[in-house]
Amino acid sequence: MIENSMFEEEPDVVDLAKEPCLHPLEPDEVEYEPRGSRLLVRGLGEHEMDEDEEDYESSAKLLGMSFMNRSSGLRNSATGYRQSPDGACSVPSARTMVVCAFVIVVAVSVIMVIYLLPRCTFTKEGCHEKNQSTELIQPLAANGKSFPWKQMRLPTAIVPLRYELNLHPNLTSMTFRASVTISVQALQATWNVILHSKGHNISRVTFMSAVSSQEKQVEILEYPYHDQIAIVAPEALLAGCNYTLKIEYSAKMSSSYYGFYGFSYTDESNETRYFAATQFEPLAARSAFPCFDEPAFKATFIIRIIRDEQYTALSNMPKKSSVLLEDGLVQDEFSESVKMSTYLVAFIVGEMKNLSQDVNGTLVSVYAVPEKVGQAHHALETTVKLLEFFQNYFEIQYPLKKLDLVAIPDYQAVAMENWGLLTFQEETLLYDSNTSSVADRKLMSKIIAHELAHQWFGNLVTMQWWNDLWVNEGFATFMEYFSLEKIFKELSIYEDFLDARFKIMKRDSLSSSHPISSSVQSSEQIGAMFDSLSYLKGASLLLMLKTFLSEDVFQHAVILYLHKHSYASIQSDHLWNSFNEVTNQTLDVKRMMETWSLQKGFPLVTVQRKGKELFIQQERFFSNMEPGIEPSDASHLWHIPLSYVTYGGNYSKYQSVSLLDKKSGVINLTEEVEWVKVNINMNGYYIVHYADDDWEALIKQLKRNPHVLSDKDRANLINNIFELAGLGKVPLQRAFDLIDYLGNETHTAPITQALFQTGLIYDLLEKVGSTEQALRLIGRVSKLLQNQIQQQTWTDEGTPSMRELRSVLLEFACTYKQENCRTTAMKLFDDWMASNGTQRLPTDVMTTVFKVGAKTEKGWSFLWEKYNSSGSETEKNKILQALASSENVHRLYWLMKTSLDGNIIQTQKLSFIIKTVSRRFPGYLLAWDFVKENWNKLVQKLHLGSYAIRNIVAGSTYLFSTKAHLSEVQAFFENQSEATFRLRWVQEALEVIQLNIQWMEKNLKSLNWL
Ligand SMILES: [Zn+2]
Repeated sequence: MIENSMFEEEPDVVDLAKEPCLHPLEPDEVEYEPRGSRLLVRGLGEHEMDEDEEDYESSAKLLGMSFMNRSSGLRNSATGYRQSPDGACSVPSARTMVVCAFVIVVAVSVIMVIYLLPRCTFTKEGCHEKNQSTELIQPLAANGKSFPWKQMRLPTAIVPLRYELNLHPNLTSMTFRASVTISVQALQATWNVILHSKGHNISRVTFMSAVSSQEKQVEILEYPYHDQIAIVAPEALLAGCNYTLKIEYSAKMSSSYYGFYGFSYTDESNETRYFAATQFEPLAARSAFPCFDEPAFKATFIIRIIRDEQYTALSNMPKKSSVLLEDGLVQDEFSESVKMSTYLVAFIVGEMKNLSQDVNGTLVSVYAVPEKVGQAHHALETTVKLLEFFQNYFEIQYPLKKLDLVAIPDYQAVAMENWGLLTFQEETLLYDSNTSSVADRKLMSKIIAHELAHQWFGNLVTMQWWNDLWVNEGFATFMEYFSLEKIFKELSIYEDFLDARFKIMKRDSLSSSHPISSSVQSSEQIGAMFDSLSYLKGASLLLMLKTFLSEDVFQHAVILYLHKHSYASIQSDHLWNSFNEVTNQTLDVKRMMETWSLQKGFPLVTVQRKGKELFIQQERFFSNMEPGIEPSDASHLWHIPLSYVTYGGNYSKYQSVSLLDKKSGVINLTEEVEWVKVNINMNGYYIVHYADDDWEALIKQLKRNPHVLSDKDRANLINNIFELAGLGKVPLQRAFDLIDYLGNETHTAPITQALFQTGLIYDLLEKVGSTEQALRLIGRVSKLLQNQIQQQTWTDEGTPSMRELRSVLLEFACTYKQENCRTTAMKLFDDWMASNGTQRLPTDVMTTVFKVGAKTEKGWSFLWEKYNSSGSETEKNKILQALASSENVHRLYWLMKTSLDGNIIQTQKLSFIIKTVSRRFPGYLLAWDFVKENWNKLVQKLHLGSYAIRNIVAGSTYLFSTKAHLSEVQAFFENQSEATFRLRWVQEALEVIQLNIQWMEKNLKSLNWL
């Protein structure tokens, strides 16, 4: 899944914006029963059980099933349950029942005696005071009966084999009726089937064993706190036997963007239309149908959907049949799916048209609402090329007969990889040559590549549990850049990957960061895994590994891994084992990579050159420079693949040094050199700091001839020196010395990095009222880039990289009021307005033109009118960005309010609006005030765990740099609740403010040299 909004500055790709309607902050453990009436089951013995077993055992005992529920007990013939020699499943004898009843009575008596013992709990350690952590709590079902399972994770005694799901959605009432028939197999004997179900009105449940073939209606228990139901079987389920459950139910369609959701939209003739779609990852399949909603429970799916005739229904698999029903409705049946996880199931009902093309037996189709299908050509072409690339690269054919990509008119995630039915926001799949810029094309290509890569990484081979989400997302993100670099080289997608690495390292250097592989249990913790670290740090580590091992070895390991684990689920160890198999143990890839995946942060590599020797040291790169706040994990060590290039060195033959797996090491150069640049092309996930002389030598080289170093290395040097200056390791003045060469810079990546770093400083200075210094800074940067700015034309000509550079430079010039720029932009805007918006504007500078135009009363109103009438989402986004850059605070407030209401501007755009508003001085305090005033409504609409809320908080606070603001933000979240205050992204927002304060204290007074 990709959840980023295209606007978010940070993960220009790493998007997460979906709307997990997650539980409001659950405890990690199940030691709390919310309804107050709980039964306490204290330790009942001294079995050598693991924790899960122990909990299960205790629960079972309370229900009087202590020996029945354990497979070992059941396999023992003494219990009276057995599998007959021919494999058929038999029922217990009457004698057995009597024995069971006796044992139950004894077990319950023992429990009661123990329960009544005053103030004492028996454990392995003896008697403990009541209320200590050894207490185990028995949950209660909604009807007051005991619920037989207390864990958040489902038991593994029963596994699903096949689902048959019949759905009849009503798009006007936004409700659906449904039934699901689930074939299951018992791996261990048990009396209950525990599965997920959320928000269903279950009317009937039947149970049938393979032997009796007779449906029996059975009781269900519901435990909404964990979204679980228990089906109480009429007979014991025996290991090795198959059973069938049928559940009939009805439910409301979700009104958020999560689950099976419905919405209305207006078409080009202003008619209201209805649409239904799904977004299940991570935990919402359970709200569409009762199921075993964990990724490891793979099964096959047969889906049938009843719809009105005018609609099209789509699901993961090709349509098998359509039957006209008596009442004029149509039932579509889709072929049985491959074995897959529930979060990948998808279905869509709406009015759509498509473009299609056959690729070696797979029909690739791009669907959109009828009036927009003309914008689907680019996506289709891109998908066809990428599909062929991935099939060749992975040496595994895409296994389905069809691959649909659907642009959904209202969709909060950016895109989702449902097997065979990829879903997208309209603006990320549709391309309109009149309004889509080169950046839009790149974004579309990246997202399609990402979701296609998931068809192998994630769909074919799936993580067992959400703690290893980064394997899915890191690989899909890595493959999106890798594949595009191979097949659309002209896009220079490496520039985007480089920029993404800079941004993710900034985030990973905070103490509020986390290891990409972290244990998770609750829905809130699972939701939090969908952050940019899982995506981009994961991808960055894979790039480092690929560079270190070589492209061939990397590909072999990937192919081996995918072949070995097809249709199965894995842990990250399986991935590393495949690498180790290919390296033939000459390198312990698992040992090396775990230093990166299990630790948060990354190393700072310090280089000191003495003659022909390079002395290397590593420590954690930690953003906080307060003397008292040292990283607690100072002892952490990374296995770092070091590479370097020297003056006269050849990039194609650079030396890759064996791993630095100690705190320090020495590299022997073959000769004395003028300078050395470590971490070639920034393929390694670390920052490098040089001794003073070596920085000087590099700065001199850049001034003399920057092109001796690659553009990636030049951008890398700019990034590293500014990050080090932020830490106080290098004087800020030296960082500015380094970018003094920019007048000779011809490439996009170094210029965008320099503008990013200096823009951040400008923003901070401007917000604390240091206008004079801010202007001096901008004056200095403008002077450096003057030649490049003047060379730009207001066209769409040139390579994608040149076009992006043009977009960045003219945006910079117009933002900082360079008159030539503003005059030209205004002229273009006036002509465009005079043509009633029909005259074509150059797409790459369209946002800049709109921003300048939006500064006049008339221009703003005209843009707003166009926003409402435009049929192109990419154009609407550009207009919205211009509207939110206004200097009129009343308009800014109105925009935020209108987006929060969600009727005219979709609420999914709000986080982008807030970030844009807060970036400029007029809106910077307004945005935070808006967030505070509307907090309850924001949380209610977007949900506390959503990526949108995280972005809203970060976007409205990241430029605060005073203690007063820090206290205010802190107090605001403390007043919400302890749990809210402790959320990782709240802590991250506070940490960013603290770092800004430190930066100001350190640098503000000494900026006179600017
Ligand atoms: Zn993804």
